[in-house]
Amino acid sequence: MQILVQKFGGTSVQSEENRQHVIRHIKAALREEYKLVVVVSALGRKPDPYATDSLLNLIQYPEQHNSAQETDLLLSCGEIISSVVLSNELQRDHVNSVAITGSLAGILTNNDFTQAKILEVKPDRILEALQTHDVVVVAGFQGQTEDGHVTTLGRGGSDTSAAALGIALEANCVDIFTDVSGIMTADPRMVDKARALDIVSYSEICNMAYQGAKVIHPRAVEIAMQGKIPLRIRSTYTEEPGTLVTDAKPNAFDTDIIDRPITGIAHIAGLTQIKIALSEDATNQQSQIFDAMAKADVSVDFINSSPTKLAFTIPGHITADAVNILKSLGFKPEITKDCAKISAIGGGMTGVPGVAAKIVQALSKAGVEILQTADSHTTIWVLTTEEDMRKAVNALHEAFELNK
Ligand code: ADP
Ligand code: ASP
Ligand code: MG
Repeated sequence: MQILVQKFGGTSVQSEENRQHVIRHIKAALREEYKLVVVVSALGRKPDPYATDSLLNLIQYPEQHNSAQETDLLLSCGEIISSVVLSNELQRDHVNSVAITGSLAGILTNNDFTQAKILEVKPDRILEALQTHDVVVVAGFQGQTEDGHVTTLGRGGSDTSAAALGIALEANCVDIFTDVSGIMTADPRMVDKARALDIVSYSEICNMAYQGAKVIHPRAVEIAMQGKIPLRIRSTYTEEPGTLVTDAKPNAFDTDIIDRPITGIAHIAGLTQIKIALSEDATNQQSQIFDAMAKADVSVDFINSSPTKLAFTIPGHITADAVNILKSLGFKPEITKDCAKISAIGGGMTGVPGVAAKIVQALSKAGVEILQTADSHTTIWVLTTEEDMRKAVNALHEAFELNK
């Protein structure tokens, strides 16, 4: 039995009209003699009534009584509704289909409610259903703990369901259908000239996803990479092949993946930069600061340190808490709110001289103030103000001629 996993995101299943495109892709795969496991997200986006954010709006716990477990029970309904609606339309269209929950699909997770990690997939029920059906529609974004509680996998987690099922079912490929034509050189909402990439490596796209390119969940890429299953990111509305994510090169002379220093530009807004002056006992002070942040569950990023200064970023919504902690330790933090982290990512930048210089030149030419920089062998990060974010992303896209 040849199995293909297809995943359709929220906008793809939003309306009956959009779902006609979904059904077209399903029927095309059936004509190629595949058995299909179709993973769906909740229908549409807020204010659509069954979208994840709309469901979240239905509840508000009194302070200190937040129940992540109940929240997951509610959120899981969005994907269940979507799976039944699509399966019903498939049946009306004479496709032999059945809908099942993530739990029935055998997705076992830890009990980290709202951010659960998949521990194991036991696909027996899916395989059983595929004996009598051509299509099994699985509610994405959800699983079950060992003791039977419903969990969700973190926002955007239907991608993760699809990748994990693809591996457990030894599928030929996992197709992620969405509202753009593939993984693009930058978010097309930010850069008009962004272009879809034909092929990218797992590590490049994983990096882009962690740095804010929300076209695919980074965990889905990690799972696919570990299981060595190819992913394709493609548009629901066209027949274009989209972007292939793989480490396998089509032929030994294919240098597309390695020949470009920069593959794409990603961005994350909503950050606060914190700068702290350090005294003679800098090392001790730094460990005091990071210790206190870790204890308060504040995730710090973009750390630059010298014997006299420490700079880092935190998610903007926890600024007040972090500042209070630092002040209680006797520090006088300097705060810049509303910052954005711009990342230039490329597996091919290692050993290529002048990439950082080109970035700084392009940004200063565009009049972007650089608040902080850092680099690794595959990424260069720049912190700017949110106001400069669009200008910065476009300037880097242009400087590296990513539209060509
Ligand atoms: P879905 O609901 O199908 O999962 P998402 O909204 O999660 O869709 O992801 C698709 C969106 O990701 C696109 O509409 C696009 O604006 C955004 N995006 C951000 N960065 C990129 C990128 N580099 N390439 C493509 N899309 C991107
Ligand atoms: N519906 C969930 C979300 O909005 C999961 C997903 O779309 O992948 O985050
Ligand atoms: Mg998504």
